[in-house]
Amino acid sequence: MIVDYHTHHHRCGHASGNLEDYVEAAVRAGLSEIGLSDHSPIYHLGDDPHPLPGTAMSRHEFPAYVREMTGVRDRFAGRIAVRLGVESDYVLGWDDHYRDLWRQYPLDYVIGSVHWLGRWSIFSPELPAGRTPEDIYEEYLLTTQAAARSGAYDILGHLDCLKTRGHIPDPGITPRLEETVQVIAESGVAVELNTSGWRKGLGEPYPREELLAVCCRYRVPVTLGSDAHRPEHVAAGFPEAVALLVRVGYTSIVRFEGRKRFELPLR
Ligand SMILES: [Zn+2]
Ligand SMILES: [Zn+2]
Repeated sequence: MIVDYHTHHHRCGHASGNLEDYVEAAVRAGLSEIGLSDHSPIYHLGDDPHPLPGTAMSRHEFPAYVREMTGVRDRFAGRIAVRLGVESDYVLGWDDHYRDLWRQYPLDYVIGSVHWLGRWSIFSPELPAGRTPEDIYEEYLLTTQAAARSGAYDILGHLDCLKTRGHIPDPGITPRLEETVQVIAESGVAVELNTSGWRKGLGEPYPREELLAVCCRYRVPVTLGSDAHRPEHVAAGFPEAVALLVRVGYTSIVRFEGRKRFELPLR
């Protein structure tokens, strides 16, 4: 019983395939469940409903996305469970916005991801002018804590994503990082083991093993996601991911239905 809860499709502008292609890939991979979780529209950069084509769908497109997910779920009923989700940005101060927004749709789960520190994307190769890696990392962790506490999310996406462009100055378990895991545990949200770090050549998933072990020690629930941007990425790296979960001490993963959490034993 294995799930892939982190997938994208063409609407975001940088992934290929339609929703059905990802579900077909999940059937072929033998998954029990597939979660559809394309990038949320961008809200924090002003009034433009589509400020960054190629990064996320337009605000006007979101209802059509939910309608299409619902149709795909119903067509695949009996073959595979399809869950309706979204990978939502979290931006500091936008708690009410995201919490209220996602309640308006019949979603099974919402992934909260810190992709932005204000107007600065964490995927930028350069730090913002006048900032140091240390203070950016501090802001990233405090923003992650705020995301956990916001009540807008069921799962936090790719915990140590700031490492993608090499912006994490201290890869160890610093006091602020351990405090962040503690906040996540207290807030009741799950994290994901996101296998895309292996695909991106980082040599490790998100989060890396040492951090995943701390999450396990604090009893933070975990789910699995490939962060697929092509149908063939669905369930990529999952045998290694399950072995890693077992190695750090996890005995179950979690799945969601109607924003309620359920456990799936790993063996
Ligand atoms: Zn993406
Ligand atoms: Zn993401």
